[in-house]
Amino acid sequence: MIYADNAATTKISETAIKTMTSVMEETWGNPSSLYAHGQRAKELLEEAREEIARAIGAEPREIYFTSGGSEADNQAIRSMAAQGKKKGKMHIVSSAFEHHAVLHTLKALEKEGFEVTLVDVHEKGVVVPEEVEEALRDDTCLVTIMFANNEIGTIQPIAEIGEICKKRGIPFHTDAVQAVGHIPVNVKDGKFDLLSASAHKFHGPKGVGFLYAGKGVRLTNLIEGGAQERGKRAGTENVPGIAAMAKALTEALEGLEEKRERLTKKRDRLIEGLKEIEHSALNGAADNRLPGNVNFCFEGIEGESLLLLLDDKGICASSGSACTSGSLDPSHVLLAIGRVHDVAHGSLRLSIDEETSDEDVETIIRSVKEVVEYLRSFSPIWRDLVNGKKEFIL
Ligand SMILES: *Cc1c(COP(=O)(O)O)cnc(C)c1O
Repeated sequence: MIYADNAATTKISETAIKTMTSVMEETWGNPSSLYAHGQRAKELLEEAREEIARAIGAEPREIYFTSGGSEADNQAIRSMAAQGKKKGKMHIVSSAFEHHAVLHTLKALEKEGFEVTLVDVHEKGVVVPEEVEEALRDDTCLVTIMFANNEIGTIQPIAEIGEICKKRGIPFHTDAVQAVGHIPVNVKDGKFDLLSASAHKFHGPKGVGFLYAGKGVRLTNLIEGGAQERGKRAGTENVPGIAAMAKALTEALEGLEEKRERLTKKRDRLIEGLKEIEHSALNGAADNRLPGNVNFCFEGIEGESLLLLLDDKGICASSGSACTSGSLDPSHVLLAIGRVHDVAHGSLRLSIDEETSDEDVETIIRSVKEVVEYLRSFSPIWRDLVNGKKEFIL
């Protein structure tokens, strides 16, 4: 099997598994208990908090553990919305291609009376900081722009956006789920007030993540109950998951520069190979994208069929959005970068990692070429394109 869907989830690392099992076997006490066995779990929790804080340039007290990226996004946005509402500020700025954890939270807030401005991401899939600035109003209570897009991998100019927000005194949140553990992320550089991350995107376990909330940021609880996480996130802590997340992050950051370089080379070879397919196009800017992300559109085919046939060849890939099954809507990200419906339907996301060998890359290129050619051989849309009844877009 060739696994090329790391943007959906990554394989948990050996270190993370070992950490989890050892905590489950030996340190299974409740961190809130006062006896030593519980306190040992509490120590592990605080060690993990320190390790994670160090990894992103934060203070341990600024890290809140959550059940993953979605919860962190929800809590960040809901917290700033609640603070804004108190002051009569009910306007939020975001972008058109955020993850659904952000977009759906914003939709829910709109029903509660908030106004949301989604800035354009243009053809290249990059937000323009000046346009964020223009969207700001006196009643803006939050700007939330993702660090790197999960479908097309484009990295956003978040440092500039953070600077603009800081000048205006507006809280800035970034969904950094695709960035943390893959590219350098430092809360000091980005001027973030809030940042979300998820362990299973950097070879940690699923169901655990964290929210960074800088000093002075007031969080609202999504879950009421005990006083865990300084009263901001009730529920007995997922100690094994949290300890494993910290170890996975440290491991992901070891030799990050070299890993990025190696991966970028493989990514670029993949892009070069797939470009040879006629009437295809890379989605999102070629530069400034996540080192493992490749996303293409092929005219005249259905992405779903492409995925199934690649699966037959032992290649795990995605059409871009994780929730395509059962839905005929094309990806909102591809529509946001201006792909028309027909073209957006023929999309393929390959997200490779360290374990993808050069040989795997060649196998992927060969397989995609074969499958695209095969699908086009009996595609009525392709026939119309070739016969000139329809015009090629790509
Ligand atoms: C995966 C992902 C999420 C959701 O994280 P979970 O831990 O699966 O809830 C949020 N945002 C982005 C950009 C993601 O890639």
